[in-house]
Amino acid sequence: MAEVEYECCVCFEDFPLSQGTICCWEHFVCGGCAVEVFNRSLKNINEFPASCCTAKEWHVGQFEDVLQDDRVDKNFRSEYHLRMEAHHTPLALKTYCTNPECSRFLRRETFREGPDYSAAYCKDCNIKVCVGCKAEFERPGKHI
Ligand SMILES: [Zn+2]
Ligand SMILES: [Zn+2]
Ligand SMILES: [Zn+2]
Ligand SMILES: [Zn+2]
Repeated sequence: MAEVEYECCVCFEDFPLSQGTICCWEHFVCGGCAVEVFNRSLKNINEFPASCCTAKEWHVGQFEDVLQDDRVDKNFRSEYHLRMEAHHTPLALKTYCTNPECSRFLRRETFREGPDYSAAYCKDCNIKVCVGCKAEFERPGKHI
């Protein structure tokens, strides 16, 4: 009996199940395309999160077997998780470091409830950012 083959929803070639992942109720994606879609999603904000269709966001855990370390950047997992967290953070709470060379997403756990206002803190730049207006705190109690 021949092995059942699945059509990759990106390159439309056929693969055995072992060479890809069923990514949603309707789609199968081959390992090579999955890696490419994941890599593109981090490079291009419009392509984030990685997905096969609007109904399904891909989570790294689903693709562990195709996301081998030699196929993705070594920071891939942490970057993707962080990006996913930002993606699901309500706009009002989405805060980024104001240092243009850093501009990292400041996660909820960096927020400090101070006497001032809620501030997010970037420990790499030692910068406090106002969660309300996204400006940097110049000194305690005062910001631009
Ligand atoms: Zn493919
Ligand atoms: Zn799909
Ligand atoms: Zn920073
Ligand atoms: Zn403010």
